Amino acid sequence: MPTPLFDLPRPLVPVAGSDAAYPVRRIYCVGRNYAAHAREMGADPSRDPPFFFMKPADAVASAGRLAYPRDTANLHHEVELVVALGRGGVDIPVENALDYVFGYAVGIDLTKRDRQNEAKAAGQPWERSKAFDHSAPVSPLVPLGPHQAPASGRITLTVNGAVRQDADLADMIWSTAEIISRLSQIWALQPGDLVFTGTPEGVGPIAFGDVLEARIQDVGGLRVEIGSGA
Ligand code: MN
Repeated sequence: MPTPLFDLPRPLVPVAGSDAAYPVRRIYCVGRNYAAHAREMGADPSRDPPFFFMKPADAVASAGRLAYPRDTANLHHEVELVVALGRGGVDIPVENALDYVFGYAVGIDLTKRDRQNEAKAAGQPWERSKAFDHSAPVSPLVPLGPHQAPASGRITLTVNGAVRQDADLADMIWSTAEIISRLSQIWALQPGDLVFTGTPEGVGPIAFGDVLEARIQDVGGLRVEIGSGA
């Protein structure tokens, strides 16, 4: 067995109420999973279904201060329910899909909207706008069994105390179970896989120094200050 030349840090998300941490393998993201957000982005939710993209595992970040990223003048917030898988599988039926979940968290899919719009117009991929360093702040994970899965409940994001996003998880086009089932038809899912399940309407720009408070009923909250320093 060859010896690795050096060790790499393993991205971790704290588990709420415990000393344990959840190791992150992959970050899957759902685009266009709330009809009103699809419309605000210029799409037609009756014609354009949700879809998947990814962020690198080491894009995960914790609550606290994050640097305003380089390479954008239009950083946007997208509050999302995050699902953490505790079991792996392929072709998982919708009926059993929640059995594969370890827990849930609140996440913000930070997005360089200027770079994303340029990529859309040019037919180019989204990594530059979605997969940058620290682009996936996540709250501590709350372990919840299949019968406690948050299927409805308020999802909100404020900027400096002003409400920007305020919706209900019940507005999701694909449910958590449907997302897991569909993902598992494309990729072999594994423990350590996080899924950002899409954002509701009200996305908007973040300025240097802004304080973001994201909250999901029965899941928790996440406070992020966008300023200098990492
Ligand atoms: Mn998103």
